[in-house]
Amino acid sequence: MNHTGTATTANGAGALTGDASGADWLARYSGALMGVFGTPQRVLVRGAGCTVWDADGNEYLDLLAGIAVNALGHAHPFVTSVVSSQLATLGHISNFFTSPTQVALAEKLLELSRAPAGSRVFFTNSGAEALEAAMKLARRNSTPERHRILALDGAFHGRTMGALALTSKKAYREPFEPLPGGVEHIPFDDVDALRTAMDGSVAALVIEPVQGEAGVRPLSPEYLRAARALTREHGALLILDEVQSGVARTGRWFAHQAVEGVVPDAMTLAKGLGGGFPVGALVTFGEDVSTLISAGQHGTTFGGNPVATAAGLATLHTLESSGALQHVADVGGYLRERLAAVQGVTSVRGAGLLIGFDLDGDHAPAAVQAALAAGFIINATGPATIRLAPPLILTREQAATFLDALPSILTTAREATA
Ligand SMILES: *Cc1c(COP(=O)(O)O)cnc(C)c1O
Repeated sequence: MNHTGTATTANGAGALTGDASGADWLARYSGALMGVFGTPQRVLVRGAGCTVWDADGNEYLDLLAGIAVNALGHAHPFVTSVVSSQLATLGHISNFFTSPTQVALAEKLLELSRAPAGSRVFFTNSGAEALEAAMKLARRNSTPERHRILALDGAFHGRTMGALALTSKKAYREPFEPLPGGVEHIPFDDVDALRTAMDGSVAALVIEPVQGEAGVRPLSPEYLRAARALTREHGALLILDEVQSGVARTGRWFAHQAVEGVVPDAMTLAKGLGGGFPVGALVTFGEDVSTLISAGQHGTTFGGNPVATAAGLATLHTLESSGALQHVADVGGYLRERLAAVQGVTSVRGAGLLIGFDLDGDHAPAAVQAALAAGFIINATGPATIRLAPPLILTREQAATFLDALPSILTTAREATA
């Protein structure tokens, strides 16, 4: 693995921010940006490898990677050079045209997906758009009798209206109802509940092999196998949302590949795919599913543009040639094993470098603050749950610096919350 990133100031803090402090930028932020994200935790100006720096010159080990996005860390030299030279050669063309990078990335995704003959790819700019395409695929598998779409309790599939209809959290949904209809949420990882819900009225089952936003909750292999068998039996599509769990994040190219015999009808990707550049995809498996949406029924202006697909190719190539799957499994296993031994950590979940752990109290948000103060970026998915989704190039040594600091971070957080 190439664990280094080249620190450069050419387009870094100096040129962009002058002498303004983080506090200055945050004051301007609140006057210019819509308040949907609350107050940002820091103003970041530069990154290299697994490290980022803020406007006040503080350094952080990034254990979140822009929410499972920066698979190769920040400013990876190869991704940077491929994206730059593609932009300097041909940046955008619309889907009236195609480009070699678009075709090559689609072929690479089909190869890594082990997709059967007749499989196809549709490119998007984000995860939510990949889910929108999946939702339209489900509608194309619908009839007056077959109209239900099943998703799981705890599901997160994005914030656009179709993706939101699949997302379960009431606080995200209710302000925007009515949402596209027909979606029902059924209990998580409950094979009996799935069997009860499944019949010829179901058009699609949409599931995350590992629920990310819900606190890194993996579905059991038995559930994935039952989901495959029952959807096939009843003529429903099995749609796997691998936006977060895909692209080597769990030590497999796609998380579902850990369970033999589970081949989906469709799979959504985004987050890690572009190594930090926005690109998403819907992969459809086999000829029948791949022709459900026909010419003119879907589209996008930016989706699959030369720069985004070059970023995807550069990312996949680097992951493949550096042996990332094994590295992710090794470092992830090391992290989970040591986390389980930390006092105040009550359970550890996940696979590869998608890791969730629970605390013995509701001090996860305070732990995020204490970690920042100690120079680490982590994430709270709930009051007592921490998520780690670091760059896939994270080394054991870097992981160890966090593990060594964690007991004191948790002590600080517990005291701040008491
Ligand atoms: C992040 C995420 C999405 C939405 O992706 P965006 O790029 O934020 O629209 C969808 N599904 C899953 C599983 C995700 O983790």
